[in-house]
Amino acid sequence: MATKLFIDGAWVEAENGETFPTFAPSTGEQIDEVAKASRGDAIKAVEAARRAFDEGPWPRLSGAERAAKLNRVAEIITERSAEISEIEARDGGGTIKKAMFADIPGAAGTFQYFAGCAETEPDEFDHGESPFPPAKSVIRREPIGVCSQIVPWNFPFIMASWKIAPAIAAGNTVVLKPASFTSLSAVEMVKACEEAEIPPGVVNLITGPGGSAGEELASHPLVDKVAFTGSTEVGRRIMQLASGTVKKVTLELGGKSANIVLDDADLDLAAAGVLFGTFFHNGQVCESGTRALVHADIYDEFVGMLVERAAKIVIGDPLDMATDLGPLVAPAQVDTVERYVKLGLDEGAKLLCGGSNPAGLAEGLDSTAYFSPTIFEADNSMRIAQEEIFGPVLCVIKINSDEEAVAVANDSIYGLGGGVWSTDADRAHSVASQMRTGTVWINDYHMLSPQQPFGGYKQSGIGRELSEIGYNEYRQVKHVWRNTATNRDGYMHFAALSGEI
Ligand code: NAP
Ligand code: MG
Repeated sequence: MATKLFIDGAWVEAENGETFPTFAPSTGEQIDEVAKASRGDAIKAVEAARRAFDEGPWPRLSGAERAAKLNRVAEIITERSAEISEIEARDGGGTIKKAMFADIPGAAGTFQYFAGCAETEPDEFDHGESPFPPAKSVIRREPIGVCSQIVPWNFPFIMASWKIAPAIAAGNTVVLKPASFTSLSAVEMVKACEEAEIPPGVVNLITGPGGSAGEELASHPLVDKVAFTGSTEVGRRIMQLASGTVKKVTLELGGKSANIVLDDADLDLAAAGVLFGTFFHNGQVCESGTRALVHADIYDEFVGMLVERAAKIVIGDPLDMATDLGPLVAPAQVDTVERYVKLGLDEGAKLLCGGSNPAGLAEGLDSTAYFSPTIFEADNSMRIAQEEIFGPVLCVIKINSDEEAVAVANDSIYGLGGGVWSTDADRAHSVASQMRTGTVWINDYHMLSPQQPFGGYKQSGIGRELSEIGYNEYRQVKHVWRNTATNRDGYMHFAALSGEI
């Protein structure tokens, strides 16, 4: 039975009754049918969110009351963790290990964290004396309104939590649109919101094509904010669409992050970190460290370690707990990776390992959906080092100094993540400080938590998600000027019009 849309507290079919299939990429088999929303459905969802914001109880509840609902969502997700993990792993091809240990608990933790924000982040606070005493300033933090939220296929469940949780914690109402490759786990998240008795219209779900339903969500005049995660190309389009009615926009876009290995790094740790930084989830991660900048003095030894260890990564059935890497999300993504491998070879990059579909997979798995971890020795000016591939492809680039490492790392249109591997804390911190990116990990990679802000410099995005900084991206700032004086003596502006000067 096909999944449905969730509009104004009710599960409904698309207005024209249309559906589209969703597949398990590991085998190519169809798992389900998904409701295919039209522009008309998107409009209905926006109107429901508008009514819930303007007239419904949600924005008017106390932070503590909203927090109780978010905590309940987290409990329901946790109770259903095994079931949702399996849906997530089958539909998107990520491993069950990743779903069980990162995605599902991470999403529950995100709801809990923003429940905490709703309880403890002040809605109103004294901003101190003005330059015209006794007038005082009060700052109010108010919800923005209706938020359209469009998410990608690489981390469908946790990305949906990063969108819904802070928005509704702050008192907004939302319309969520998951990626068409991976709609199923978003349905489960919205069911959890329904079960937690979040009022009708606060959380709405539109599944269907970005090019029509998504465009409506990004442009509809009743929408106040658009929060988008996905490609830089679509991010640009979202800005255009949102500009018609000057909506607030936050964007989490692509990346080509540098993982810098200095000559004093713990090579064992750094090799593990560079492989994890690139190949985790097949490199289908926006902050993947897909450029390893390796100091010349340790280059040969270190690159040898990478190649040797890459061969030991276990590729297989995503539903098997022993599997490190499953398939890519869809045949189109494999095509993209193949195109880039050919391009790299044409550009003169040296292929050190991988470069094709893996051999020897278990029976029943579709090997054309998989791609072996691939390492190129490259130059930073090559397209494979400049463009986001979003697949398991690492470019290793030789550097000779910290200054050169910083210059090469920053020679990118992107600025999302990055790593520095060194045993000298001050040196690593100095390099990290000079990298123009939203996150730098020192002797670590990919570590994210709801407490810490995440987002990009340059063409990697606008704004931040997570932490109190991400929470405040869902709140307006209102300045209330309160004057208790009974006359305006000494106020030049009053005097000017009252004819006294
Ligand atoms: P995408 O095309 O940017 O899609 C992301 C989301 O935007 C999906 O929900 C998509 O819906 C929707 N969308 C597409 N066109 C739209 C439009 N014109 N208006 C409104 N919404 C629209 O990304 P993708 O195709 O999933 O992946 C392509 C590339 O994006 C990747 O190769 C990678 O470079 C990048 N990417 C980055 C991230 C990240 O976290 N930064 C995540 C995923 C992908 P449909 O699914 O229905 O098209
Ligand atoms: Mg699928």
